[in-house]
Formats: sequence, structure tokens, C-alpha cells
Amino acid sequence: MQNRINLNTPSCGDEHDSTAIAYETARNAIIDIVSMHSLKEQERLSLWQALDRVLAEDIVAQVNVPPYNNSAMDGYALCSDDIPKQGTNELKVIGTSFAGHPYIGVCGKCECIRIMTGGLIPEGCDTVIPQEFIEIINDFSIRIDERTRQGENVRLTGEDIYLGQNVLTHGKRITAADLGLIASLGIEHVSVLRRLRIAFFSTGDELRAVGEDLEPGQIHDSNRYTLFGMLSHQFCEITDLGVVADDVIALRNTLRMAAKQHDVLISSGGVSVGEADYVRQVLSELGDIVFWKVAMKPGRPLTFGRINQAWFFGLPGNPVAVMVSFYQFVQPALQCLAGEIARSPLILQAVTHSVLKKRAGRTEFQRGILSQGADGSLSVCETGEQGSGILLSMSRANCFIVLSAEQTRVEAGSTVSVQTFADWL
Ligand code: AMP
Ligand code: MG
Repeated sequence: MQNRINLNTPSCGDEHDSTAIAYETARNAIIDIVSMHSLKEQERLSLWQALDRVLAEDIVAQVNVPPYNNSAMDGYALCSDDIPKQGTNELKVIGTSFAGHPYIGVCGKCECIRIMTGGLIPEGCDTVIPQEFIEIINDFSIRIDERTRQGENVRLTGEDIYLGQNVLTHGKRITAADLGLIASLGIEHVSVLRRLRIAFFSTGDELRAVGEDLEPGQIHDSNRYTLFGMLSHQFCEITDLGVVADDVIALRNTLRMAAKQHDVLISSGGVSVGEADYVRQVLSELGDIVFWKVAMKPGRPLTFGRINQAWFFGLPGNPVAVMVSFYQFVQPALQCLAGEIARSPLILQAVTHSVLKKRAGRTEFQRGILSQGADGSLSVCETGEQGSGILLSMSRANCFIVLSAEQTRVEAGSTVSVQTFADWL
């Protein structure tokens, strides 16, 4: 696998770090590699259990929707030949057709049927006159005028979905609308792909669990909570492996065990070049490393690789970098692995109210607050201090301001690209 990516590919990051690869190269490479290995195992579920699962089959309509011509209004069904060209005409009311209670019989010349919305259009009728347009003479007769055209207020058989139509394609993540759509076709069970199994852990001797007192030099482990939150939106089965010490043996044991039972392993910390950064070393022992430095900020150190059948993402330790790397690399990879049709994040253009400091040579994901003016125009401002450890900058944000590698300082009033978080929730 190592050979598939040239680590020396010239990149926008070369100006500062000749071994870093461009953000786009890294993202595309990850997507390319994992998309050849998406899940195949299927399970058959009732519709009640299928929400948010990925379809493993195409859904083809075996019926027409609606299954019969029916009325779109409350009114009177008749044959359009009886509608006068001008003036009025008198019709005999010979029966009723209510939703679920059709009129069985034929409607003849100068006859009509009292009909309600959803009621079956009886034989002999092709048009419905809304009740507001008619004059009631008595219980058995009405007077109509020329206002209604042939075919009006009738919903035709197969108008929404026709028999044989491919309505959903495999790879579609099933939404609430899809559930209703499938139900409208009378389908009770669907084949879906199984869920991805994902394990995650933090690394670092300085980390203490929430609830534990801190000694000098220690901090609370926050990345596992962030990862838990982000993974919870990915519709997968997740396993929390806790905190692993900065220790080669502990790391090796954790990775080896977890790789047997999971499709994806995600760690944070220990991927830079510090003396206690063992993730890369252990991964190259147990599996393959694809790369480890990306020309982006935050999130420069990133280890991506494979241990037997399990994909591994070694995210940086800095709390903001964890989130940026997850959304830019892990999230699209999980989509592909889950068998989902890949979706690109929505990029919007907005005018920045903040001056954005930026160094050329790396893609930056600054944290912003996107808002919309009364005239519909989009603007964005920065959330304050942008250090890669400052989680408050993520917590306050609703978007990333994405600055490309070539960009330098951006003046207030300029238009910038933003990626909203709404895509990821
Ligand atoms: P590392 O990549 O392990 O050198 O970590 C980079 C920075 O992120 C250090 O300041 C770490 O203390 C911090 N860090 C690493 N892991 C976590 C974590 N799980 N929660 C909060 N901060 C972390
Ligand atoms: Mg560390």
C-alpha cells in the first residue's frame, strides 16, 4: 500500500516542509484507497430499524403510486363532456366516493358522484369540480358552470411513482423521507449494509479521566469525548478503548487486539516527532503507514494506515486538530467504508468581517461563525483565538473558514470559502 502514494509528491507545503503533502492530495488519496474496500456484508431489516442505514439494494417500485386515479379536492366527479362550453348544466348526484369507500359502478351522462380528497375516481369520470364551484339544487342534483377543464383535480395512477421505477439506489443513507417512500411502495423489509465497527482511544501519559484530580503536568482527556460525539453522528458501532500510555508495548497490545474486532481504529496524540510519540513506530511494525504529515493547519501530523483488515487513523493530540482531521479525512473515509455514496461537503462563499492571518503553503481551517443578513447575504467572522488547542474556538463556531494553500492574509470585506458544520450533524 505504501507504494500507492508518493510521499515526495511536490506539494503546496513544500515551501515550509518538503515532506508534508498537500491537504487535497491527502484527502483524495484516503478516499481513493478506502473506497475500494467498502463494506459488503448485508442484513435484512424491517423498515422500523432501517433509518440511517445504508441501502444495499436498489428499491424498484412494484406498484404505481397512487395506485388508482383519485380526487385532489372535495367536490364532484363527472365526465368532462358534461361541462358546458358556456352557461350552466344540471347533473344528477348518483352516489359517493370517499377515501377508503369507493363508488362501485359507472357514472353516466349528466350524472356525477360526490367525492372527497383521495376518493377513487369512478368509472366514466375524468374530472373533479371543486365544491366551491357548484351550486346545490337539492340532495340529488347540482348545477355546474364552465370554469373547470378536463382532467382537473384528478391525481392519476402512477403520477408520483410508476411501476418499475428505480426510486432509491444502493449506497443511499436512508432518511425519514426514504422510509415513507419505501412504505408507500408497500415494502416492509430492506437489505442494508452492516454498521462499521469503530474503536477509539487517546494516548498520552499526561491524560487523566474526567473526575480524577490532576497532579502537576496532567490534563483531563477531552479528545475521547470529542471523538465520541463526532462518531455518534456516523451511525456506526463504537468502542471506547480509554487512554493508552505513551508506551510501545501498551500501544502495540491495544492496536493488535482492537484490529481483530474492528473495521476502523482512531487514536489521538502521539503522532508528532516528539520522543514519546510512538504511534507511527508501532503502526509501521504492525501494518502499513500511508503518510504522516499534511500541509494544513491545524492537523499537520496525521497517520493513516492499515493493520490487517482494520484501517487506522492516528489523529494529532491537539483538541482542535482532532476535530479538523476527523471532519476532513476520517468522516469522508467512514462514508466510503460504510458503502455510502460519497457526498462532498457544501462550500459556501461569505464575506469575512475579520482580518484572517494566514501563512502561504498550507491549507487552513479557521473557525468561524457564519450568519445571514436580512438581504440573504452570508458573512462570517472568526471565533477568536485560533490556537489548535483552543476548543472554545470550535465550540463557538458553526463553520470552518477554508483558506487554500496559496492564500495569505485576508482583509476584512473579502469573500472566503466556508464549510458549514450543518453537514456533519
Ligand atoms: P501529542 O500529539 O501527543 O504531542 O499531543 C499534542 C498536544 O495535545 C499536547 O499538548 C497534549 O497534551 C494534547 N493532548 C493530547 N491528547 C489529548 C487528549 N486526549 N485530550 C486533551 N489534550 C490532549
Ligand atoms: Mg502525547
